[in-house]
Amino acid sequence: MTDALSPSYDAIVVGSGPGGATVARQLARRARRVLVLEQGSAAPLAGTLGQMAKIAAVPGKGMFIQRDASLLVQGITAGGSSAVNFATAAAPPLEMFASYGVDLAPSLRELRAELPIGPLPDTLVGPMAARIMQGAHALGLDWQKLDKMIRPQICRSGCWRCAYGCPFGAKWTARDFLDEAGKHGAQLLDRAKVLRVVLENGRATGVEFKRDGQLQRAHAPIVVLAGGGVGSPRLLHSSGLRPRASSFFNDPVIAVMGSVSGIDGGAEVPMAAGLRMDADGITLADMTLPEPMYQGFTAQAGRFDRLFAHRHTLSVMVKIRDEIGGAIGPRWASKCLQPSDRKKLETGVELAREILAAAGATHVFQSRHFAAHPGGSVRIGDGVDSDLQAGAKNLFVCDASVIPQAWGLPPTLTLLCLGTRLGEHLARL
Ligand SMILES: Cc1cc2nc3c(=O)[nH]c(=O)nc-3n(C[C@H](O)[C@H](O)[C@H](O)COP(=O)(O)OP(=O)(O)OC[C@H]3O[C@@H](n4cnc5c(N)ncnc54)[C@H](O)[C@@H]3O)c2cc1C
Repeated sequence: MTDALSPSYDAIVVGSGPGGATVARQLARRARRVLVLEQGSAAPLAGTLGQMAKIAAVPGKGMFIQRDASLLVQGITAGGSSAVNFATAAAPPLEMFASYGVDLAPSLRELRAELPIGPLPDTLVGPMAARIMQGAHALGLDWQKLDKMIRPQICRSGCWRCAYGCPFGAKWTARDFLDEAGKHGAQLLDRAKVLRVVLENGRATGVEFKRDGQLQRAHAPIVVLAGGGVGSPRLLHSSGLRPRASSFFNDPVIAVMGSVSGIDGGAEVPMAAGLRMDADGITLADMTLPEPMYQGFTAQAGRFDRLFAHRHTLSVMVKIRDEIGGAIGPRWASKCLQPSDRKKLETGVELAREILAAAGATHVFQSRHFAAHPGGSVRIGDGVDSDLQAGAKNLFVCDASVIPQAWGLPPTLTLLCLGTRLGEHLARL
């Protein structure tokens, strides 16, 4: 693929996470000339701690320390956060989107038929996930295997690399759609940070971006911002189309951990199974992470006595649907828990402790809260219309920022639906 800009494109997509990669693929499949600009690197995923840290732990880029000292993380790389996410698939809440004039049902049908979505076979459910499931079932809870975006025939047991970036191609990531877009002629420029949208007479005509220290411009009659929940409101602001600060959700998480005997593990697919309590806005799942990440939680919680207990410590994730609030600004992103958020976390943590006790765990402790789903910052019906158009003609937003309400679900499949729908709409323009 060439690095030289073409004099003309049909569309520019800014950001290559699930939203952006899907729009790019849809347009490229229909022979549109597409340029994708991604500020992160497109180097192959190696599945190492070092690469993951560059993608999701550089302060101010992949990681934000919020005002209450909790962490918010996102992936800055080709594929966005999907490169390092846990590959759990949840169907979009179709009724909620329909109430905003957005029908995602056709896209969902297409994607379900195409993508490797389904529960893991038992052989890939790790011993820790299985023990947690036993504990939950002993309490009579409806703890079920979750749908994953994983190719079971390539995935391997005893592996810890999902969260570092699967180097085996077992986990679906937005890079899969970028590759397909590339085969249809789309051009991806990585390490290209877009600074603003170029506007002429109220219409988007291109973008200004920086690459290798050089300021450059690219032009197209359609611009799609897909910089993610943090990136897109910032780009709209720097383009004079949005106030300095945007409120958002981030789906806070607490890990509740406890040690058991009879398991020598710590290397398995996280979120193999769980419990959705949609009415309460609480989700629980197993969450076995690689040892350095476990040790990070342990040290942060001050439980140095558990630092080397990774191989026999079960971890239950408690995730909630938080209220929209806080602020994403030009250089910061911060959202503190509100009283209703704390209440949900407390309820979820109490249940996680009961499950761990039923699984025979002792030395139970919990991490501080952290978050990995920034979104709702340019909401449908507020920042964009039902065609995802934002503030200027032919300027669109397609990523987690357009989610219209407080969330609390794995967002990726919803973003693929939004991207498929938008791609089809743009191809008709
Ligand atoms: C640890 C972790 C686990 C997760 N687990 C799951 C899970 O199991 N299931 C699930 O569904 N979701 C999960 N998620 C969340 C999910 O991956 C994200 O919600 C999803 O990737 C968001 O997609 P997006 O299209 O909004 O953009 P993002 O994935 O945020 O990607 C946006 C891209 O745009 C780029 N960008 C931003 N600004 C600019 C700019 N100015 N110029 C150029 N490029 C720019 C960024 O570098 C980034 O690559 C997880 C996330 C994390 C971090």
